[in-house]
Amino acid sequence: MTGLIERYRDRLPFADDDPVVSLQEGSTPLVHAPRLSERVGAEVWLKIEGANPTGSFKDRGMTCAVSDAVRNGAEVVVCASTGNTAASLAAYAARAGIGGAVLVPEGKIATGKLAQSLMHGARVISLRGNFDEALALVRQVCDRQPVALVNSVNPFRLEGQKTAAFELVEELGELDALCIPVGNAGNVTAYWKGFQELGHAPACFGFQAAGAAPLVAGHPIEKPETVASAIRIGNPARWEEAMNAFTASRGQVRAVTDAQILDAYRWLARNEGVFCEPASAASVAGLLVHGAGEARRIACVLTGNGIKDPQTALEQAGAVVPCEPVLGAVEDAILGAAA
Ligand SMILES: *Cc1c(COP(=O)(O)O)cnc(C)c1O
Repeated sequence: MTGLIERYRDRLPFADDDPVVSLQEGSTPLVHAPRLSERVGAEVWLKIEGANPTGSFKDRGMTCAVSDAVRNGAEVVVCASTGNTAASLAAYAARAGIGGAVLVPEGKIATGKLAQSLMHGARVISLRGNFDEALALVRQVCDRQPVALVNSVNPFRLEGQKTAAFELVEELGELDALCIPVGNAGNVTAYWKGFQELGHAPACFGFQAAGAAPLVAGHPIEKPETVASAIRIGNPARWEEAMNAFTASRGQVRAVTDAQILDAYRWLARNEGVFCEPASAASVAGLLVHGAGEARRIACVLTGNGIKDPQTALEQAGAVVPCEPVLGAVEDAILGAAA
């Protein structure tokens, strides 16, 4: 296995002797989903981006953004984040041996992502504000200070993330539709770029959480709210590009409620054996609620790993079964599983 810069160097803005900061990201599993296919009446595949080194697709963008920062002599990389960009930045900065600082909205980041960011030694700054405010502030800091911004406003992030589209086309050949959660709208922009570079044009269906759906509303949302913390964003940085991807691909951007997201989240774990985080389940929730036009072969992007947000999982899952250390009691407890 190689990292994605090595794998796709001929289609990425890196020369042979450029420094590469990699954790062997990319090349993630593409898993057929038989039960979901049956429900939808089409052939549905799950792109398991939670299998990346830090557990989300952000690693694809981060290997490129941090490699470029190192090439430019940066000593510190920074970002605003709903959690996964922070975790990814922290890991790649550690790998590169440079400093990392992340601005996260206070109290609104999943436990696993916080633990990752801290463990990798990033400076984690808890902002008394939301993601949109954090991004606006960190952009200003980067104009004033010698630090490199690695949010998806950084074009190298999109370069890395477009490689997921390459992998889909390599494995599936033709696909008719892509279903993807949308927050800051960098990822759908990157997929569309990747598809276009290959001369493919699957319909892109983007799904936002109903309480944080500016692209659906047509205006920024001042106080975005959703259980899907990774897409709790009210003013996407890649607004225009994402809307262009939906229009040009004959897709759509639609909203799904938190209840629909959580239904899909539990259903995938129980029926397909795939545990993603709540934001990721928006892609499948959207497919179930809104469909994907006439598409026959569909890929749903599961952007992040379920283990990142144990709190939401425990709130949504069944309870544990208490048991005395006695044979009969253990037997009863186990056989209850068949009921
Ligand atoms: C970042 C993220 C998204 C949203 O991607 P954008 O590029 O911001 O649209 C969706 N799901 C997860 C798990 C994420 O970490």
